[in-house]
Amino acid sequence: MRGPRHITVEAWILGIFVCGLVVMLMLFALSWYNSTQYTHAQERVVHLNEHILAMSSLLMALEQADGHQRGYLLLHEARYRDDCVRAIGDARQDYNRLQAIFADDRDSAGLVSRIGELEDRKIQELTVMLELVQAGNNQAAIVLLRAGAGRAEMDELRTLLSAMKVHRAQELEVLLQQSERRAGGSISLMIILSLGAIAGLVTAFVLMNRSLGARRRLNLELSKDKSRDELTGLPNKAMFMDWGYSALAGARREDVHMAMLYLDLDLLSEVNKLLGTRGGDAALVEAARRFQGAIRQTDMIARLGEDEFGILVSGASSVSNVATLARRLIDVMARPLLPELHEIHIGVSIGIAIFPDDGKDMRDLLANGRQSMLTAKSQGKNRYRFHFDNANQLVSRQETLSQDLFNAVANKELYLLYQPQIDLQTGEMVGAEALLRWRHPYFGDVGPQEFIPIAEASGSILTIGAWVLRTACEQMVRWQTELGFLRRISVNVSSRQLLDSRVSNALAEFLSESGIPPDMIEIELVERMLVEPRAADEIDRLKAIGVRISIDDFGTGYSSLSYLKRFSIDMIKIDKSFVDGLPEDSSNASLTPTIIGMAQGMGIEVIAEGVETPAQAGFLLSHGCRLAQGYLFAKPMSSGQLIDWVQTRGLTGWK
Ligand code: C2E
Ligand code: CA
Ligand code: CA
Repeated sequence: MRGPRHITVEAWILGIFVCGLVVMLMLFALSWYNSTQYTHAQERVVHLNEHILAMSSLLMALEQADGHQRGYLLLHEARYRDDCVRAIGDARQDYNRLQAIFADDRDSAGLVSRIGELEDRKIQELTVMLELVQAGNNQAAIVLLRAGAGRAEMDELRTLLSAMKVHRAQELEVLLQQSERRAGGSISLMIILSLGAIAGLVTAFVLMNRSLGARRRLNLELSKDKSRDELTGLPNKAMFMDWGYSALAGARREDVHMAMLYLDLDLLSEVNKLLGTRGGDAALVEAARRFQGAIRQTDMIARLGEDEFGILVSGASSVSNVATLARRLIDVMARPLLPELHEIHIGVSIGIAIFPDDGKDMRDLLANGRQSMLTAKSQGKNRYRFHFDNANQLVSRQETLSQDLFNAVANKELYLLYQPQIDLQTGEMVGAEALLRWRHPYFGDVGPQEFIPIAEASGSILTIGAWVLRTACEQMVRWQTELGFLRRISVNVSSRQLLDSRVSNALAEFLSESGIPPDMIEIELVERMLVEPRAADEIDRLKAIGVRISIDDFGTGYSSLSYLKRFSIDMIKIDKSFVDGLPEDSSNASLTPTIIGMAQGMGIEVIAEGVETPAQAGFLLSHGCRLAQGYLFAKPMSSGQLIDWVQTRGLTGWK
């Protein structure tokens, strides 16, 4: 009898132990299961960040709200079925409360009915969601609807939102993952916050975290929900107008400005032609993403039409701030939109209308924004234009030039003039210097002294410089082969350009293509580039290619004889300031021969710049400077004029 009883106790202990083990194994398996869900977390994390971002902008809106304001917060999140059923009921009650709060406020009547529409739609959406998740598992959604008026309740909303932002991010993350998985991807998270106020009105609307499958299903159910653009996920035009009316009402009450930017992509049709509509769609989505990244959280962006976007900037404090934003929007399009689009630059043209100057309501602002966008397009695309003409003038000339320089090559606004270089002894033309000119569509001719430093600062000099180099070299080859008269072309290369290896690469390529001797090309650098350590390699490379190097404006900058030797410089150009006043100017009359003598001593050729009188030419020649360039012989001329000039005077016509 004892034996079996003893065994039974042991069996119990063993049984309990086994059960414990099983439970532990199950717990372990469960935690493993949960952790595998994190492998899918990457995408969710992105969404969650967006969610937190949206929260921050809502919080900001709340922060701006004062005690007179009334607020409304609607939040859906994933929870359990029973909660969800109850929550839908609560939402209805809360909405009734909201209506009561706003009942006495005529100003907000429109807002409340808009919220009502939204709210109805969202409750419908939730019901659909509930069905979806019920079919999957017991996960469901909860809606949290809060309404408030006055400081205390505003504070409550604020606290709620902050708490969600800080504490619930992680919880929400896990919840979303689990629910999405079990419910087959049907999670929606939505926050609507509206602040209606006697003093101001802010409406923010955020909708996100909806997986694709669920979005499609919901869209079927909610074909009424037309507030968003399917492709880009941005609000659509109706939503934009809606939001805009509220925002304008606020701006009117507070007597502040707002800006409406009307964007239109350039050349999207080219993308469609090249990559089909799917490629075009992908480009649009990417453009939308970049625009979104370039604006502030408090600005609103929407897709207005095929390749058109609208941005509403609240609190537009100055024209130059808005101009900076427009510039940024143009800049984000500088990189190719898709890897396969590296050949086409899809730019954006922007028209800007300012409230209240350019329109007192959304319709006028939109129309004027669009009209200015069309003006921007007709002026060469990839630029912005204010509707209010004074605003265009307020944007500094420099900023406008800077932005326009990026398009100057593509728009064929640049051209080169050529100034002959003369052998004073024989009168022969030994070469020509290419000098850049810009015919700006509005400002007319803009001189290189003004625009080269701007192009240097913005970086557009790289594209421009490459164009100058190629155009000048090609022109020289044409003269050479067709007329046989030009021996050498000089091209100015600025310091930023020199540091970019494109110059030497382009030159090497050109020389091998054209087969012309490299010493027919001369690169003009200024003195300070010689002492710039980073430039040494590039100068060496140029020398290795075999092109000539001359030092421009010699004597005006940092001169170092050792550098002239180090880089085996071919020529120095004596600056015009040393030539001026010769031969009377006693200081120049002694300095210039010194420079000439020094160059000769080092075996470097010399040319004098800015020679305007025969007396100057005579003085220079008598002191051993054989070459000269200046108005005395010829002003910079177009290629056609240069041909005429040569033909009328003959190659040795000067003497
Ligand atoms: P620079 O290289 O010293 O060019 C000489 C300037 O003196 C030219 O002005 C030319 O038109 C002017 N000039 C020539 N002969 C005379 C004369 O007898 N009297 C007077 N008063 N002036 C004369 P421009 O064309 O306005 O060019 C100004 C500067 O712009 C150039 O100075 C050069 O630094 C820069 N630049 C011009 N084209 C280019 C270019 O393609 N690339 C770069 N990086 N810089 C350029
Ligand atoms: Ca020069
Ligand atoms: Ca010069």
